[in-house]
Amino acid sequence: MIKVVVTGGAGRMGSLISRLVYESDDMELAAVVEREDHPLLGKGLGNIWGTENVDIKLKSDFLAEIEKADLYIDFTVPEVSLKFLTLAVSRGKSAVIGTTGFNATDMDFIAEQARKIPVVLAPNMSLGINLLFYLTKKVTEVLYPGDYDVEIVERHHRHKLDAPSGTALKLGEIISDVIGKPLTDIMRWGRYGRSISEKSREEVGIFALRGGEVVGEHTLYFSGVAEEMVITHRAFSRKAFAIGALQAARWVMKINKPGLYDMQDVLGLREEEK
Ligand code: NAD
Repeated sequence: MIKVVVTGGAGRMGSLISRLVYESDDMELAAVVEREDHPLLGKGLGNIWGTENVDIKLKSDFLAEIEKADLYIDFTVPEVSLKFLTLAVSRGKSAVIGTTGFNATDMDFIAEQARKIPVVLAPNMSLGINLLFYLTKKVTEVLYPGDYDVEIVERHHRHKLDAPSGTALKLGEIISDVIGKPLTDIMRWGRYGRSISEKSREEVGIFALRGGEVVGEHTLYFSGVAEEMVITHRAFSRKAFAIGALQAARWVMKINKPGLYDMQDVLGLREEEK
């Protein structure tokens, strides 16, 4: 049994992940950690999951809990996440970090710590999205030189404030790497009005649709003169990230070697990339 500590355990992601760990056959939920002033501290996890009570209580002392476990899964905030990483390193435990919003200095710090323990860090842990990243590279490599245009359309719920989505930008970066030009030189953020010339060969349009409660949808169009290939990824719920986090936890225990890894490693796609 893999003994797992979940941090940010009362949050949107942490509560999903802790429940999946609790229900899994190969993992044991060693502890669920929250901030020191969390109102549910000391209470059973059923209060968070909205289920009948479970005899595991919400804790706040990460160091005491990680000592008894093999690894931790962290979906919190950057400053807290960095603190937990330092503590995990001091005890030689592994880390799966899904928290986003790290700056360049933070990333350097994480890379430094990952020389001492295995760390999986991924801003998007969905298995499907990470496979989409891989496929985008492969398909662009084959079809772009064959005179296919590439366009990206993303859809999200009406509450989303930023556009395009971070995932659409990442897809754009993958395509721009293959084309060999900076993203800002080839991306076209939507289209309107009359252009003085037709779309250039390398121009990649990104379109952001907003409405209802769409969790997240990303579609890539590879359009040639005689055929078209369309790839769509559709997320139904946050559970997609939680499932990926558990997969990362299983993988990191198996690899058991210090280093900074991402979901391409977890999915076994890294070798094929080379
Ligand atoms: P959330 O606000 O619902 O949860 C964060 C939790 O962290 C809260 O419960 C908060 O109380 C807790 N926390 C804050 N300080 C803490 C401390 N000192 N000790 C322990 N817990 C502490 O947010 P969320 O939607 O669950 O997202 C959390 C993070 O995960 C964000 O950075 C988000 O962008 C990221 N995220 C990543 C993925 C992915 O696939 N990698 C997917 C979704 C969200």
